[in-house]
Amino acid sequence: MRYFYLVWVIGLLFASGARAAGANEDIQLFDTHIHYSHDAWDQLPPKNAISILRAAGIKWAFVSSSSDDGTQMLYKAAPDLIVPVLRPYRKRGELETWFRDETVIDMIEQRLSKNTYAGIGEFHIFGEDANLPVMRRIVLLAKQYGIFLHAHSDAAAVEIIFAQNPDARVLWAHSGFAPAKRLRTMLEKYPNLRADLSFRSEPGVEGAIGDAWRQLFLEFPDRFTFGTDTYTPERWNDVADHATWTRDWLKALPDELAEKIAFKNAQALVGWALGN
Ligand SMILES: [Zn+2]
Repeated sequence: MRYFYLVWVIGLLFASGARAAGANEDIQLFDTHIHYSHDAWDQLPPKNAISILRAAGIKWAFVSSSSDDGTQMLYKAAPDLIVPVLRPYRKRGELETWFRDETVIDMIEQRLSKNTYAGIGEFHIFGEDANLPVMRRIVLLAKQYGIFLHAHSDAAAVEIIFAQNPDARVLWAHSGFAPAKRLRTMLEKYPNLRADLSFRSEPGVEGAIGDAWRQLFLEFPDRFTFGTDTYTPERWNDVADHATWTRDWLKALPDELAEKIAFKNAQALVGWALGN
């Protein structure tokens, strides 16, 4: 068992009882959408980035970065907090070209053999591009390593990924920016689909939750995860406020459901990777 897994097993055991005494206002958060890309490194050194996460009460985070070196720096600084996810980009600006670039596969394979990751992503893939050889290989590698795919995609690409591997686990970035109705259809159709809530303002309007979203959360309590998305260096300034805002609207849900969205569903994704 690698060090990464050991840290995780210990972390998960600890977490299972950690909120027993806590009220909803200090609910722990597992941020499933953090990037620490090259243009953030100078102005926000690793220890400062970690401080921001900790100050926001974020106890765990899926981190993927352009390049992966950013993720490795954060992981080294805080292995109890950071859960590495492997992004197929080496620098900003590759999100529209990566899936036609065969050299991406070499990089991904090398990194997977050297380090430990809970998933591959976040990558951007839309429609039929999900059938291109690079994406097909990514789906296979995720299967081989037993890790999830973090996809910023339309519904068509998600369908193609599941056609390639019906047992894949897909964390749908931004819940696909899909309207609640479309989201429901996809969650019903694909039991292994998870959806992160980064950049979705609909669930929390002034601390309330709209009926459509409340209904979705109640129907699919195990499928949604909290996420911020630090897609630019400036976005790191919003981490604390976003966490506060999220805690606020989570209060409108039953405690057990709030905990699932806040951190337990993300932990389950890690647990699934550990089980492989
Ligand atoms: Zn992102």
